[in-house]
Amino acid sequence: MKKRLTEYIEGKQEVFEQIAAQIWDFAETDYQEVQSAKLLEDFLEKQGFQVEAGIGGIPTAFRASAGSGKPVIAFLGEYDALPGLSQEADQTSECPCHIHGAGHGCGHNLLAAGSLEAACAVKHALEPAGLSGTVVYMGCPAEEGGAGKAFLIRSGCFEGVDIALTWHPTPDNGIWNQALANVKLTYSFSGKSAHAAACPQEGRSALDACELMNVGVNYLREHVSPAARMHYAYINAGGTAANVVPSYAKLLYILRSDRIEELEEMLKRVGDIAKGAALMTGTTVEEEILYAYRELLDVPEMDVLLTDCMKEFLPISYTEAELEYARSFQAVELGTEAAKNAKEGLIGMETGITGRVQMSSASTDVGDVSWVVPTGNICIASVAAGTVMHKWTATAQGKSSAAYKGMHTAARILAEAARRLIEDGELRGRIAAGFARELGKREYYSLIPEEREPDLL
Ligand SMILES: [Zn+2]
Repeated sequence: MKKRLTEYIEGKQEVFEQIAAQIWDFAETDYQEVQSAKLLEDFLEKQGFQVEAGIGGIPTAFRASAGSGKPVIAFLGEYDALPGLSQEADQTSECPCHIHGAGHGCGHNLLAAGSLEAACAVKHALEPAGLSGTVVYMGCPAEEGGAGKAFLIRSGCFEGVDIALTWHPTPDNGIWNQALANVKLTYSFSGKSAHAAACPQEGRSALDACELMNVGVNYLREHVSPAARMHYAYINAGGTAANVVPSYAKLLYILRSDRIEELEEMLKRVGDIAKGAALMTGTTVEEEILYAYRELLDVPEMDVLLTDCMKEFLPISYTEAELEYARSFQAVELGTEAAKNAKEGLIGMETGITGRVQMSSASTDVGDVSWVVPTGNICIASVAAGTVMHKWTATAQGKSSAAYKGMHTAARILAEAARRLIEDGELRGRIAAGFARELGKREYYSLIPEEREPDLL
């Protein structure tokens, strides 16, 4: 199998680069990834995969499978862009392709095409080997705030999958085995409007309630774990007239923790603060959970496998032109002076593997998958060291030759991990046992209420 994996990835690089570039051009956001999903589905179908489109009732979700029998190995693909991050490729100053347009500021165009490359390579190598095994490409929409995978799990789309493998483009290499659980929700306050000068005593201000709630939450910060995060935004401040007591105002909150147990406690405490703010102001409050993500469940046996596969393909070698390209973005992110002094590890690769990545402040819906299927998740450098993801600088680098090198490297590592898993039943047994041990008596659940449906088109 190994030889055919290598041959496939060596020979088809341009095809997958084109797919990554097209998805970058489409730049479709949460649940609107119609063209991106279609492109991937059509390609998989042509490669001989059986494609089931619109799984879980989500039009831009799909499952493509090839081969037969156990193990069932699923590569996860994400292809959603971020609103407001449109940016011309390769430009080191901010210049959107479309004003207020979306852009691939999290590299999901590379993620989608890299996982696709791995899935196709494994299919290509598996068939003549005469081994039992099913390779799946799981088309997962709306990672950026839409919790697509949590809804797919709810619909049973991951049933029968034995192992999930995925990656994420980043400025560095490593195993991504830590991510925060989070919950995104709104607090809507209702009060009573009044003329703020003529009869203020008649008014009950929903805006006051929001402000008091935020003060309360800011005092709560001292009493949560260091990993916990709480952020808020006013999505309706009650209007722009200072002489009107606002009767309605709304806050958006995101709460995060590295443990679901703490997150649930925070959710209750923040809810109590909201009720307290309503009580103080004579208003009422309604809480609505929009989305929730689970923390990643780490299986050390999986990390060992992935680290071993990473050692085989890292570090990536870069041309002087690619390093120069990386330096130009590093100068934007760090400032020219700091960039000059930065060591010659510009794309974070020369040092090879950084080991366990502590991405403790990030969240991903891969976390949800990791509680139902043993999941391997790696980060491969695809942008210059120092690049801030979810920023126009990341969008700008999404079609560069260094980005594609990262993508092909990720595909090689994931395909090699799949090969070992298909060929080695003992290895699969160790990972299954590790998963059972880490899960212990806990069970997967999502904080997304049953009645909550994804925000489709
Ligand atoms: Zn991302």
